[in-house]
Amino acid sequence: MRFLWGNVTFTLLFSGAMFLFSPPFLQADEKPTVLATTTLIADLVRSAAGDFVQVEALMGPGVDPHVYKATQGDLSKLGRADIVFFHGLHLEGKMTEIFSKLGKRKNFFAVGESLSRDVLMAPPEFEGNYDPHVWFDVRLWQSCFSFVSDRLIEMLPAEDAGSIRAKSEAYEQELSKLHSWVGEQIQSIPAPKRVLITAHDAFGYFGRAYGIEVRGLQGISTSSEFGLRDVKNLADFVIERRIPSVFVESSVPKKFIEALQSGVRERGFDLTIGGELFSDALGVPGGVGATYVEMIHHNVSTIVDALQ
Ligand SMILES: [Zn+2]
Repeated sequence: MRFLWGNVTFTLLFSGAMFLFSPPFLQADEKPTVLATTTLIADLVRSAAGDFVQVEALMGPGVDPHVYKATQGDLSKLGRADIVFFHGLHLEGKMTEIFSKLGKRKNFFAVGESLSRDVLMAPPEFEGNYDPHVWFDVRLWQSCFSFVSDRLIEMLPAEDAGSIRAKSEAYEQELSKLHSWVGEQIQSIPAPKRVLITAHDAFGYFGRAYGIEVRGLQGISTSSEFGLRDVKNLADFVIERRIPSVFVESSVPKKFIEALQSGVRERGFDLTIGGELFSDALGVPGGVGATYVEMIHHNVSTIVDALQ
């Protein structure tokens, strides 16, 4: 019969009574449930073990994780799921307290916190916190993926391990190729225009990994405010460097970046919105940017087209 590592004790205790009833937690034909907080993490789980588990993301496409508050329904889902993957590093800002309690359970795993502290960025404006947006360096997300894949192999029935391993190796190769492609694409933008301006500071790791300067109007989290002075400073920078385009994000209101655009235009310079980037959430299933690989492709193509 199929059982999860966390339920081994239960199964052993009741194995004598197996002839009489099936365990309530997992029927023989039922797939274990894996709950991820974000669509990005759900995508990692699917890429490793999509055939063997039922995956669900608490926060859907376009949802901003920094300000998301868990509902009563979310709490019961967290309690019922066989395995839970959350990001950590304060990405789920309003759920930090929940995870500081539940996160110690044996079936809860913090994906972002699996990375070594040496590779994490902690810019001074983040006030002592690490930047959680690690998925924008494909190599770091690849490390997060192997963490997820290893935990799934440990937790899921042993007979699934071979398939999960094979699928994971293929996916890791895809990510290696993606990493090289992103680097080549970004380097094709003329050096002076290689500047990425968005509403919130989600692209720090992207900038570090692929050699593009990054400026944001808000800080690390979308919950921080920006003022007129921030808009003016960024407008000065855009005009001085003759930056042609800035970008809106799918999980952040457009009005922030539109304020910058008006600020620049009022001074007689043009500034276009180069397109919409996915920052903290994937696109809707079947649409643009529905998987991590497609999201990176979409973002990079949008950036390169707008800044050429
Ligand atoms: Zn963010």
